[in-house]
Amino acid sequence: MFIQFKSVSKLNQLLTTMSKLRFDERVVVVTGAGAGLGKAYALLFASKGAKVVVNDLGSSRHGDGASRVADTVVSEIKSQGGQAVANYDNVLDGDKIIKTAIDNFGRIDVLVNNAGILRDKSFARMSEDDWDIIQNVHVKGAMRATKAAWPYFKQQKYGKIIFTSSNSGLYGNFGQANYSSAKMALVGLANTLAIEGQSSGINTNVIVPTAGSRLTEDIVPPDFYNQLKPELIAPVVAWLCHEDCTENGSIIESALGWAGKCHLIRSNGSILRKSLQDSLTPETVRDNWSQVTDMSTAKRCESIAEATGELMNVIEQLSSSK
Ligand code: NAD
Repeated sequence: MFIQFKSVSKLNQLLTTMSKLRFDERVVVVTGAGAGLGKAYALLFASKGAKVVVNDLGSSRHGDGASRVADTVVSEIKSQGGQAVANYDNVLDGDKIIKTAIDNFGRIDVLVNNAGILRDKSFARMSEDDWDIIQNVHVKGAMRATKAAWPYFKQQKYGKIIFTSSNSGLYGNFGQANYSSAKMALVGLANTLAIEGQSSGINTNVIVPTAGSRLTEDIVPPDFYNQLKPELIAPVVAWLCHEDCTENGSIIESALGWAGKCHLIRSNGSILRKSLQDSLTPETVRDNWSQVTDMSTAKRCESIAEATGELMNVIEQLSSSK
């Protein structure tokens, strides 16, 4: 049997529709989705057929207070014919957020850990409270939401997880010791969950966004801020969370409709002694430092096995020289 199309353009239209990335029947949880990036993610997922849990505590940018900002996003989704439900819990109560997905939609397929706040101060002036609240919201909150979703993902052998890191973590930023350490903790968490989830069809990736939001409104010059639309990052997150995307364990930086992959690289290094019997002095380290830090032939280690496996070569070389 074959179907006749009245025109080539009709056929093209159908093919384009068929290749559209949809999330029908998928349940997506976005934390911190009442504003900024999370709101853009929630709106895009819903417009593509997903049932969305719009979580937001509605706190200030520093983490104080609470409000029901999630409601406005849910209303917007519903007014466009989409399906969404609000959740107002703190991400530290991640189990309640995931329960909202299960109670309302019966499953969870995608978890975008996005909620976040700032407590910027130079390290000398940073209090333990400034440290703890940032670690709690970003790291413990994301861990708790993910921990609650994990058994569902394992059981159905499918799940997509996003953690949100920051250039502040990858590269450091004055006044953000608490925030940058939390954002790098999420990279470590994602690295391991990408390994632990792989055999259960769970993909874990990290997004490193740069977007105009209340977190950046007084940091970024207005002209640049206006260009940094969260809506230009949402499609990257949506793709990472789609069933057709096999990306796992990656750090994807994105802004302005640009996206790129980041990873750590290691120099070739230098063997600093001649044989297994030799000891090593700080002076020898000094004298070989330019080779230790020569990044001209640096490469990525794909796994901990590769990174430590290369140490076997060091033993071999040291054993062979007497
Ligand atoms: P935003 O302030 O516009 O949105 C964050 C939302 O998270 C807010 O609506 C807030 O109420 C909510 N939230 C805060 N604490 C919460 C908690 N404990 N539980 C539930 N919800 C909570 O900020 P944004 O710029 O859209 O940031 C989103 C994420 O992206 C954050 O993790 C942030 O660190 C990260 N990020 C943003 C940028 C950027 O350029 N905007 C850069 C790097 C990383």
